[in-house]
Amino acid sequence: MTSGESARILSSMPAHESADVVIVGAGPAGAAAALLLAEAGHDVLLLDRQHFPRPKPCGDCLSPEAGRVLERLGLLGAVEAAGPARLEGWRIVSPSGWSFSGRFAACAGGDPRVATSLSLSRDRLDAILLAGARRAGARVRTGARVVDVLRDRAGRTIGVRARTAAGDPVEIRARLVIGADGLRSIVARRLELVRRPPRLRKFSLTAHVIGIAAADGLGEMHLLDGLCAGVAPVTCHPEMNVVHNLTLVADAARYGAEAAQDAEAFFWRTLRRFPRLAPRLESARLAPGVGPGLLASGPFDRPTRRVVCDGAALVGDAAGYYDPFTGQGIYQALTGAELLAESADHALRAGGVTARVLQPYARRQRLLLGEARALQRLVEVVVSRPALADRAIRRLARAPAAAIALIAATGDLRRARCLLSPAVAVSFLFPTSTEVAA
Ligand SMILES: Cc1cc2nc3c(=O)[nH]c(=O)nc-3n(C[C@H](O)[C@H](O)[C@H](O)COP(=O)(O)OP(=O)(O)OC[C@H]3O[C@@H](n4cnc5c(N)ncnc54)[C@H](O)[C@@H]3O)c2cc1C
Repeated sequence: MTSGESARILSSMPAHESADVVIVGAGPAGAAAALLLAEAGHDVLLLDRQHFPRPKPCGDCLSPEAGRVLERLGLLGAVEAAGPARLEGWRIVSPSGWSFSGRFAACAGGDPRVATSLSLSRDRLDAILLAGARRAGARVRTGARVVDVLRDRAGRTIGVRARTAAGDPVEIRARLVIGADGLRSIVARRLELVRRPPRLRKFSLTAHVIGIAAADGLGEMHLLDGLCAGVAPVTCHPEMNVVHNLTLVADAARYGAEAAQDAEAFFWRTLRRFPRLAPRLESARLAPGVGPGLLASGPFDRPTRRVVCDGAALVGDAAGYYDPFTGQGIYQALTGAELLAESADHALRAGGVTARVLQPYARRQRLLLGEARALQRLVEVVVSRPALADRAIRRLARAPAAAIALIAATGDLRRARCLLSPAVAVSFLFPTSTEVAA
């Protein structure tokens, strides 16, 4: 064997490493789990295939309750120092131009911390979370793509196989593998935890833009047939004034082929079809040097069968996702990480990281997501039918108790079951307040 051949063979042999916990994906779910488990004294290795700051298609709006989770993680100060915009609530505009709005202050119970919500571009937010994980003692490796999970003969997960930024293979053994690797989680797929392929087929185009006239402190969602446009201030840039996040979500069957021809032309052309948005877009353009340009994503419907198995757990989008309309994903990722870290810490100390020991996490995660998913499905039924959306939004404009309950539930301030309360039902069925004109 020549020295060149032996060097080639050696470089294709995986290096071996180990950690107590290997976390795949350093978005909000993975970084928060890494921070908490490292703080609890475990040796944590956090891997991400990308280098940070990295582009992430997102509406950039944290729900009010997410602020309280950031506070518990010790990161709220850093997020506030990064110059986020503050949202006072949301306005939803129907295809015919009817609208209702709800302000968080009306459901914050006097707590000023949740009377507004924060909105900050994901490159900044995720960098803060990652720095928090590093400070807590987690080892962070970016540019490391996980390609498979390692299992022993009994089927128990014992680590991951990855490729470093230089393309070198590496095998990392761990007592617990956490899949926090987002919508198309390789961990969920390799562990056969994905329930089925997506049924709801939508795609999104997201950009940071300047030149949109600022609104009245509210984020906005505009609906049209098979389309939804979200607009919210993200941050105040010293030279460009307000930067907005502009996100278009479209039904893939109807608009996918058109968008594939020229995504940016489709983005602007389609946004100008929204009657109450179009006049405000006349001077709008992509924010130069802010964010990565136009980002595409989808489909989003990614249900999982389970979120734990022997030696592994899923968290964040990897644990299951449905639709971005209600904007709760970051809160669910952070809270899921808190729930998982508690169970995982217990399991690691108890000795065996089995599916049974991780069950409390699975149960609490189901509780966290169950009602939220049901609400998301109900919202999808309504917003995907223009006539129904018109009727519901027109009704909500005259039913403040129902509108506020909806904003509270999607802001994670109340459980979705609050929408079933008699007061909300009466408000919706027998609207009393003056109608808000389209
Ligand atoms: C269009 C759109 C708008 C949205 N708007 C909002 C909003 O306004 N508010 C809100 O709260 N939520 C919103 N969401 C949802 C939110 O973005 C997600 O729920 C959130 O990012 C989930 O965090 P995560 O950590 O689970 O996953 P992610 O943030 O997706 O992070 C996953 C990480 O895993 C890494 N990774 C993936 N595969 C591998 C691999 N093989 N090896 C190593 N690393 C890997 C990725 O690089 C990534 O960094 C939106 C989503 C979309 C698509």
